[in-house]
Amino acid sequence: MSPYEHGEVFVTDDGAETDLDLGHYERFINENLTKDSSVSMGQIYNSVIEKERRGDYLGKTVQVIPHITNEIKEKIYSFDCSDVDVVITEVGGTVGDIEGLSILEAIRQIGLEKAAEDVMYIHVTLLPYIYGSNEIKTKPTQHSVKELQSLGIKPDIIVCRTENEIPESMKEKLALFCNVRKTSVIENLTVENLYEIPLMLEKQGLAREVCSHLHLKNDESKNEKWQSMIDDIKSKKEHEVTVAIVGKYVKLEDSYISVIESVKHAGYKNNAEIKIKLIDSETITKENVHEKLEGINGVIIPGGFGNRGVEGKIETIKYVRENKIPFLGICLGMQVAVIEFARNVLGITDANSVEFDEKTANPVIHIMESQKQIYKKGGTMRLGAYECKLKSETLAREIYNQENISERHRHRYEYNNEYRERLENAGLVCSGLSPDGELVEIVELKDHPYFIASQFHPEFKSRPNVPAPLFVKFIEAMI
Ligand code: GLN
Repeated sequence: MSPYEHGEVFVTDDGAETDLDLGHYERFINENLTKDSSVSMGQIYNSVIEKERRGDYLGKTVQVIPHITNEIKEKIYSFDCSDVDVVITEVGGTVGDIEGLSILEAIRQIGLEKAAEDVMYIHVTLLPYIYGSNEIKTKPTQHSVKELQSLGIKPDIIVCRTENEIPESMKEKLALFCNVRKTSVIENLTVENLYEIPLMLEKQGLAREVCSHLHLKNDESKNEKWQSMIDDIKSKKEHEVTVAIVGKYVKLEDSYISVIESVKHAGYKNNAEIKIKLIDSETITKENVHEKLEGINGVIIPGGFGNRGVEGKIETIKYVRENKIPFLGICLGMQVAVIEFARNVLGITDANSVEFDEKTANPVIHIMESQKQIYKKGGTMRLGAYECKLKSETLAREIYNQENISERHRHRYEYNNEYRERLENAGLVCSGLSPDGELVEIVELKDHPYFIASQFHPEFKSRPNVPAPLFVKFIEAMI
């Protein structure tokens, strides 16, 4: 999944590589989701083809309806036997997309298979604003509702994305033309901070409408904590810091969405206003690193793949290590920190990762044993949550304040233990290890205000109200 096409690849505890939307869901509801929460059409087709090859359809003609649609419904119904109260099925794309037709047909069927008060349809539309004539247009909404109805789905609620408040008369018009009650036309206004959205929708009565349709109790008192979090987020901050994220997918902010959100969460916790600067590592050289990092209070090197831009990351790490600027390395960021240390402190000038140079004489980062026989690229990395043991009297232990942690991974390469003794003796402490002591999961430096890097991705578990410890202490160090 190219970061430029998909933005970040989000990883769940059970190791699913998913669309970044899943990260937003986790951050908003503070629940760990699983691979069952992310379904691609590829998976659906793959499973239907496998069933056909196995003979499950007894040689019958395999068709979109019912075979593909049944497969989709099975995914949704798979939550039937669990402790889930409500299943939200988000269908991506736009009504009328060829890709989405079978999914819309599947959810239409669910509406008939279940009791009327157990199923509802929420249609999200865009109300464009025309600057020249200063008006909001309802036509695209009317049109997509018509399309949806021709597919057999009548929306119960229409959520309208809009930059400007929708006048009452327009809500009435939308209700009339789109065949819903006026109270079911929900304005979805652009807000200053992402986390205000649930409260904004609540004010519009979304929960009231949903709960009354599904015969659920609407517990409004639950919003108080969220409201006080928003008040904190929006209050004037005591501190201000600038964080640089040095990577190569800087043209699309979504490529680092969880990292960026985690930095913000840590800012809320530290009463700090955070400025984030994305710097393209390909533009960084030994000569200009000083200039590039001017005014920066701390640096993050996030995950990544491939050779491009790596030398700029090495220069960056050398600079922050020597100049005692707070540093947080994530996944590739940790691997590059090890390479930098091996080259510039141990003097192994050709130290490298076999990812960047297959034939390197000094592979301080090498291919994991479990990866050696794997030739397929998709879904074959070390994925999902793994336990990690933190050594006492280390920065990592102090940050997490516990011995055992669990964090999410997505990588193919790892720290090479053959160099462990030399690297440790020179000061690069291995402060987090897999429970069997074999895999190095965290490295850190002692004589530095904050220099720590993890093989895992702490950003996948950060939530606005439960920020990730590695980020919280990073911001604290910067302040
Ligand atoms: N490319 C590295 C690996 O596969 C790091 C991956 C990452 O940063 N997510 O091990």
